[in-house]
Amino acid sequence: MYPSNFDYRRPSTVDEAIALLAKHGDEAKLLAGGHSLIPAMKLRLAQPKVVVDIGRIANLSYIRDAGASIAIGAMTTHQEIETSALLRARSPLLADVAARIGDVQVRNKGTIGGSLAHADPAADYPAAILALDAEIDLASPRGRRTVKASAFFVDLLQTAIAADEILIEVRVPATAKTVAYVKTEQKASGFALAGVAVVIGEGGVRVGVTGIAAKAYRAAAVEQALAGQTRPAAAAIALAASRAADGVEPLGDIHASPAFRAHLAQVNTKRAIEQALGRA
Ligand SMILES: Cc1cc2nc3c(=O)[nH]c(=O)nc-3n(C[C@H](O)[C@H](O)[C@H](O)COP(=O)(O)OP(=O)(O)OC[C@H]3O[C@@H](n4cnc5c(N)ncnc54)[C@H](O)[C@@H]3O)c2cc1C
Repeated sequence: MYPSNFDYRRPSTVDEAIALLAKHGDEAKLLAGGHSLIPAMKLRLAQPKVVVDIGRIANLSYIRDAGASIAIGAMTTHQEIETSALLRARSPLLADVAARIGDVQVRNKGTIGGSLAHADPAADYPAAILALDAEIDLASPRGRRTVKASAFFVDLLQTAIAADEILIEVRVPATAKTVAYVKTEQKASGFALAGVAVVIGEGGVRVGVTGIAAKAYRAAAVEQALAGQTRPAAAAIALAASRAADGVEPLGDIHASPAFRAHLAQVNTKRAIEQALGRA
């Protein structure tokens, strides 16, 4: 399949990219790694009139120590996150998650900004971004604003990013080693049928779940059941994990029924909590 005709623009600064979005509005689409946008254009699910390639903007690809957090530029690839010594040492969850994305080609080209902006319900990062309570910076003609992970994912393929905004940076807090990501993947693509990210810290357990519903979510019932516990007992973990799909409407498709997805959420939540505790 060929995409419909489009103009191609390649800005060299964020300001130029913002100006192009402001000029073309809904008719423009940013191109990052292209691993979601290009297939969508070939299937004509996306038909932008203008493609704005942000791949040559120099200062959008980095992983930096920002004190209590680690700052990651939007164009940082999954491979760079997977192999970052800084993330491995100070906030290992995101690196664990990146290592589980797709295959080597996808990890070499795909970016964290593109993945979060696309908000595929089966993408891996959203589970970790929610469990880490990350912050996401967006830039537009109105300036820069920060969105908390909890307000970022709005619905299926929909985020808090406006048509004239660019995702610039993601910040994740430094954490202890007690984190884990457990996923059951769709075997051909690697996308999550159920992916569960867990962060265990002083305040208890935070759980992000992807692949189950139209958007990734925090498993509030699990978190409440384990509130304040840093070393929950096996029975408490099992009981809490059984609530991993409470309050959500699981999706069904040829790969997994809603009931199977809900079951996988429960099993993977239990395993992720046990795995995180095992790293203490
Ligand atoms: C075969 C295959 C297997 C895959 N398996 C997995 C998997 O197992 N797990 C997983 O999580 N993902 C998987 N993916 C998706 C992959 O991770 C992509 O990298 C990701 O979905 C999109 O990132 P990208 O950089 O390629 O973005 P693009 O495709 O370039 O863009 C995606 C969307 O985000 C917008 N966008 C991009 N950058 C920005 C920005 N900075 N600000 C605002 N909007 C922006 C674009 O306009 C577009 O709408 C797979 C993809 C393929 C092709």
